[in-house]
Amino acid sequence: MPWRPCEPLFQHNLRRIVLRVASVQPCPWATHTLDPPPTGGESCRVISIAEAIAQVLSAVVATPVEEVGLARAVGRVLAEEVRAPFDIPPFANSQMDGFAVRSADLAGAGAASPVALEVRGTIAAGDRPDGVVEPGTVIRIMTGAPIPAGADAVVKVEDTSTEGTTVRFRHAPQLGEFIRPVGEDLRAGEQVLLPGRLLRAADVGLLASIGRPTLRIRARPRVAVMATGDELVALGTALEPGQIYNSNAYALAAAVEEIGGDATILGIVRDDQDALRAAFAATRGFDAILSTGGVSVGDFDFVKQIMDEIGLERRFWQVAQKPGKPITFAARDGQLYFGLPGNPVSSLVCFVLYVAPALRRALGLAQLFAPTVEVEMEHGVKTARGLCELVRCTLRRDGGRLLAAPTGTQSSGVLRSLSLADCLAISPPGRDELAAGARADALLLDAGSGVAATHPFV
Ligand code: AMP
Ligand code: MG
Repeated sequence: MPWRPCEPLFQHNLRRIVLRVASVQPCPWATHTLDPPPTGGESCRVISIAEAIAQVLSAVVATPVEEVGLARAVGRVLAEEVRAPFDIPPFANSQMDGFAVRSADLAGAGAASPVALEVRGTIAAGDRPDGVVEPGTVIRIMTGAPIPAGADAVVKVEDTSTEGTTVRFRHAPQLGEFIRPVGEDLRAGEQVLLPGRLLRAADVGLLASIGRPTLRIRARPRVAVMATGDELVALGTALEPGQIYNSNAYALAAAVEEIGGDATILGIVRDDQDALRAAFAATRGFDAILSTGGVSVGDFDFVKQIMDEIGLERRFWQVAQKPGKPITFAARDGQLYFGLPGNPVSSLVCFVLYVAPALRRALGLAQLFAPTVEVEMEHGVKTARGLCELVRCTLRRDGGRLLAAPTGTQSSGVLRSLSLADCLAISPPGRDELAAGARADALLLDAGSGVAATHPFV
C-alpha cells in the first residue's frame, strides 16, 4: 500500500496501535502521547515514539535457526529448550582434598580429643569409583574424586595430621560433609535454558557440562547500512571543501554488531534518484536496511519518494521526538527499511529507539529495550515542547542519588555529545525543560557506565 496522508491511518489504527503497545514490554514512552495533537497537513503524520515502536515491532520476522558450535555461541540467542540429559554431577565427589570417612568412626573427635584411623589408599580425580571404606579406616581423596562406597563424609586435610598409615582427625564431620551429591547442579530432565536466552559465559559452561557440542541458535540478522548524501566521502580519501566523512555508516554498523547483528556497509549513495533506486534494488537478502540522510524536507531528500516508488509499504514518516524526528519506516515481505535521518546523533538515537528493539525481536530475545533508570537532573536543560526530547547526559552516583548532567550542546550534529553520554534522559512532550532537580526516566546507553557505585574491591 503506498503511503497516503496519514489521518485515516492514524485514526483508524490508533486503537490497535495502543493495544499493541500495551502488549509489548513496558517502556518509558508507552504512555507519552502527542501534545498538541496533530491538526492536519504534514504535522498530522507525526506519530508518538510508542506508536512508532509498535509499528516497527509488528513488522519484525524472526531470523532462521542455525546450528552453531558451543565455542562460538556466547552472545548469541538460543532457539531451543535445553534439558539436562543426565544428572550433573553424574557421581558423588569430594569437595575437598582430605579423607573419605565413615562419620560414625569420628564421633567425638576434636582438637583436644583426636581420633586415629588407618589410611588405606588414595583416590584421585578421574579415578574409577571402585574403592571401599571399611569401618575403622579412611581413604585419602582429592577434590573432584568419586566418593568410595562406605564413606559418608569428607574431612579436609587441614583438620588432620598423618604419620605413616595413621591419620589423626581433629574434627567430627556431619553426615555428607564436603560431599557433592549426584545431581547437585542439575537433575536429569531438568530445564537448563529456554529459547530467547542471550548466552553468557556461565551458560556456555553449563551447556558444556551437559556435553552439548552444538546448539540451535537464531541467525544473526543481516543488516545493510547505506549512507546517502552528496557531501559524503569514504574514509581514506582527502576531504575537499564542503565534504565530510561518512561517519554514520560506521556508527550504525558498529551498533548493529554490538547487539548481535551482522552488518554490511554498502557504501555511499549520491542524492540522485537513479542512484537511490539502484542502491535499494541491491538490498535483497538483507533482513533490515538502514539508510541515513535524505528523509527530511530538503530539495535533494529523495529517500521516502524512492521507497514509495519501489513499492515498500511505508508505515510512518516523522515521530514526535528530538533528535530524529524525520525517521521513515517501511516493511515488505519481512524486510525492514529504516530511513534514518542524516544527522549523526539522530540516526544513532533512532537506532536505539527502533532498530535495536527490532533486531532483538528478530533474534527472539525477550528483553527488547535497553534498561531505564530514574535520574535526577543535575543541571536544567531547555527541551522542545511538543516533542519527546532525549537529552544526552552523563550519569554519576552521589550517595543514593543518580545524577544526570547534559553533555553540552544538544545539537543533533554534535556526535561527541553522544559519545560522552551514558544515558538519554527523557523530556516528555508538553514539557519545555528538564529543570535542575527534576526527576526523569533515562535510557541507559551502556549498562555499566556512570551507574555503578564505587567498586567494592578497589
Ligand atoms: P540529511 O538528513 O541528509 O539532511 O543530513 C543531515 C545532516 O547530516 C547534514 O549535515 C549531513 O551532512 C549530515 N550527514 C548525512 N549523512 C551523514 C553521514 N553518513 N555521516 C555523517 N554525517 C552525515
Ligand atoms: Mg542529505
